[in-house]
Amino acid sequence: MTAYEADLFVIGAGSGGVRAARIAAGHGARCMIAEEFRIGGTCVIRGCVPKKLYVYASRFAEEFEEAAAFGWNIPQKPEFEWRKLVSAKEAEISRLSKIYETNLLKSGVEIFEERAEIISPHEVRLTKTGRVISTKHILVATGGGPMMFPAIPGIEHAISSNEIFDLPEFPRRLAVVGAGYIAVEFASIFARLGAKVTILFRASNVLRGFDEILRENLRDGLAHAGIDIRSGVLPTAIDKTGHGLRLDLSDHGALEVDQVLVATGRAPHARGLGLEQAGVDVDSAGAVTVDAFNTSNVPSIHAVGDVTNRVNLTPVAIREGHLLADRLFGGGVAQVDYHLIPTAVFTTPEIGTVGLTEALAREEFRCVDIYQTSFRPMKATIAGGPARIAMKIVVDGDSDRVLGVHILGDDAGEMAQLLAISLRLGAKKADFDATMALHPSAAEELVTLRTRTARYLRDEAG
Ligand code: NAP
Repeated sequence: MTAYEADLFVIGAGSGGVRAARIAAGHGARCMIAEEFRIGGTCVIRGCVPKKLYVYASRFAEEFEEAAAFGWNIPQKPEFEWRKLVSAKEAEISRLSKIYETNLLKSGVEIFEERAEIISPHEVRLTKTGRVISTKHILVATGGGPMMFPAIPGIEHAISSNEIFDLPEFPRRLAVVGAGYIAVEFASIFARLGAKVTILFRASNVLRGFDEILRENLRDGLAHAGIDIRSGVLPTAIDKTGHGLRLDLSDHGALEVDQVLVATGRAPHARGLGLEQAGVDVDSAGAVTVDAFNTSNVPSIHAVGDVTNRVNLTPVAIREGHLLADRLFGGGVAQVDYHLIPTAVFTTPEIGTVGLTEALAREEFRCVDIYQTSFRPMKATIAGGPARIAMKIVVDGDSDRVLGVHILGDDAGEMAQLLAISLRLGAKKADFDATMALHPSAAEELVTLRTRTARYLRDEAG
């Protein structure tokens, strides 16, 4: 029998890789992990965590205004200091990164702060030291990175979500290209922090694939925040000028800004890792192809998270890493269940969603009932302002099972997390109706919505 130096060598210390290493070590496996950037990965260092901190910062803008209506006298106009936010964020992500590192070490995982590449199904090479390590299993957990589309002249002047957190100067004028999660979240953050934001995208509305009630209400919410929304318009060239950047636009207009954020999707980080050399199948997008247990066609090489380019969300990577470690070293047999993954978009207004959109439900089910509402949040009754809360419950009209819930408004993400439990348990609309309301809250609308807004019956004849 070959004596390997490690049972598991993990490449990439992000959410999925760190979880796999710690769980595997807990099962008694000898684990090593390599990270070429900072321990914590995209989520902790330049994704979910710093983004949410900036969302909190951005929401004060309205709270200062609303406070006056509730009797607070704010003597001076509040001023925002970008550099203070950046350094507070840096302190927090450094603290979290250290915690990740400490927890790995406490679990007995050996850490290499350098790049590792695969040289055979059971060997990796550390690129800085040249050391070759033999290992029973290799886990590729290298995540993904921004794609800079469209490829136009001057695209090198644009930035991605990697750079935006640490800009040396606050961009007074910001163009955002794209209308997915990242684009709308940063547009919303920077508009509230005081930037003049223009969002440019090719589709007719933001957030393709989300339920229409969310797309329409979010568009209104972004417009109310002063964001200039240009659907069907993309930049065709970016030039540096004496005062910033000039964008030529596909509608023949032009725009002058301080920064251009391109948020047109992310691609897996799998290039140059030695995957081809080890015989690992990679798809046309460059993602590692894995089976339902996260193992590639090479039985000793596995992959979790964004590098597999399936559901690119942190909790999914964590679950994949956890179950893989359980299976390899703890006798586990469970597969990740990809149904009913709740998700939030941390714009203001916020989005929280779980389950099928109305459009998907109508494709899949014979009879679909819709319960929908939109109302002013209680806070706005005194504070004023255009804020709305919108909710939609999508129900299978034949079985009464709730198929999806879509919410826009304060705390929508928190609501979606809890709704996911009910939907997993197969809750029916009648269970929502039988649940006692919590008053006064926005969420109580979900259990008091009695009037069906629409019923759609699929024409089975054709
Ligand atoms: P995304 O949500 O897939 O959105 C990509 C955007 O870029 C869409 O508006 C798309 O337009 C546009 N686009 C794509 N190719 C283009 C091209 N060639 N020319 C012009 N426009 C193009 O991607 P993302 O916002 O970059 O986020 C990446 C991933 O990060 C997401 O899939 C998500 O899983 C994750 N993420 C999650 C959260 C969260 O959970 N809150 C937050 C941030 C990121 P169309 O709509 O027309 O295709």
